[in-house]
Amino acid sequence: MNLTDSLQRPLRDLRISVTDRCNFRCRYCMPAEIFGADYQFLPREEILRFGEIEALTRIFVEMGVRKVRLTGGEPLLRRDLDVLVQKLASIDGVEDIAMTTNASLLARKAEKLKAAGLHRVTVSLDALDDAVFGKMNGVGAKAQKVVDGIDAALTAGLGVKVNAVVQKGVNEADLLPLARFAAERGIPIRYIEYMDTGNSNGWKHDQVIPSHKVLEMLREEFDLVSVDDAKFGETAKRYHVKGIEGFEVGFISSVSKPFCSECNRIRLSAQGHLYTCLFASDGYDIKTPMREGLSVDELRERLVQLWGKRDDRYSELRSEGMAPIAKKEMSYLGG
Ligand code: SAM
Ligand code: SF4
Ligand code: SF4
Repeated sequence: MNLTDSLQRPLRDLRISVTDRCNFRCRYCMPAEIFGADYQFLPREEILRFGEIEALTRIFVEMGVRKVRLTGGEPLLRRDLDVLVQKLASIDGVEDIAMTTNASLLARKAEKLKAAGLHRVTVSLDALDDAVFGKMNGVGAKAQKVVDGIDAALTAGLGVKVNAVVQKGVNEADLLPLARFAAERGIPIRYIEYMDTGNSNGWKHDQVIPSHKVLEMLREEFDLVSVDDAKFGETAKRYHVKGIEGFEVGFISSVSKPFCSECNRIRLSAQGHLYTCLFASDGYDIKTPMREGLSVDELRERLVQLWGKRDDRYSELRSEGMAPIAKKEMSYLGG
């Protein structure tokens, strides 16, 4: 099916949030004062079952999806996640199964996930210094736990990438040590500009360090060479480092250099709502009709229509000073 949205963008990438819960309270994502003890997370019956996720993924693959990413919340909090991975790996046409995780629970799960068919993990790690990292993750979690998860994933044979959110006045001093850490292990690292996701992180433009500034900082130590083989829809601007195998630096510059014109992603929330943009305020409830017994053909028809009329380009609108205000939280709809 050669499907494009109203801005001629194909559908390639499906991000599945398997839970809205998390064991961290990163200030930029789930600030503890909002996601406190009395916060109402989704009740179990509201959350998509593995069979439902598999059925929807099969339709999305017919529509063009080739990459599937599990996310959340913290995906490793979902019980028996390897069973879902196995189901997704059995779908013809799925070329890549990845997971974004804080890796705090990865050390004891990496092998099982790899055996089930997971290809890669993207591990979020914003600092190696425990004082900084503990503050950023909001629960005092130690960096070593995440490092153990990374090492277990490497030992299990999973591809590993590190993602670090960059916040002015918070983790600037940690950016070089993180690059050294990735270089030592021969794995890629990507720096993400702090984004105005959701409505609760109190984002301000002056808390963003534009990627070119981080690049300058890294160039003081590393001989970074621009990579020019980016594929359509690739979000990171990448650099190789001469002489260090496997290590690579990437920048995701959603604020300073929006990439909406190539955005080929759809997000499925844990609740079964579809979002055609990370910054959307409204989702499309596909779970209710599915549970009411709509046929696969009818479900497909609805999804094809949803993608066909998609016109989202939030980050570009933000640059033009025209961004809408109400959004859904990233922990809910999946990063
Ligand atoms: N819990 C998992 C994790 O942290 O990797 C998966 C979900 S998390 C919402 C996905 C990614 O979004 C993480 O890499 C996180 O750092 C990133 N993220 C969350 N809030 C962000 C923000 N305001 N700006 C930039 N990146 C953000
Ligand atoms: Fe949890 Fe990931 Fe959000 Fe941090 S970024 S609070 S680990 S969902
Ligand atoms: Fe895609 Fe929306 Fe992000 Fe633009 S703002 S790149 S359309 S998710």
